[in-house]
Amino acid sequence: MNRNDKQCPFCGERININALKCKHCGEWLDQTYQYHNNQYQTQSNSCGCLSIVWKTIVVVVTIVIVLALLPVIGEILMLFVLQQGATP
Ligand SMILES: [Zn+2]
Repeated sequence: MNRNDKQCPFCGERININALKCKHCGEWLDQTYQYHNNQYQTQSNSCGCLSIVWKTIVVVVTIVIVLALLPVIGEILMLFVLQQGATP
């Protein structure tokens, strides 16, 4: 018996002791690996939701700032147009 081998609990075939997935039946052997993988996916999903909320906040704040500055921008544009018209 090879020390680097273990028996697959699903199909009984000999596989590498470090194997995460059985090469014979395709079953995942390391439950903690599966768990971490699932947890990572859940975390990344919640992070994605958070970033969407942050993006929405940034967009709303940007729109508010633009709306607040619109009269100022309009005034500057008017001054610019008047200056352009004044110069021969
Ligand atoms: Zn197997």
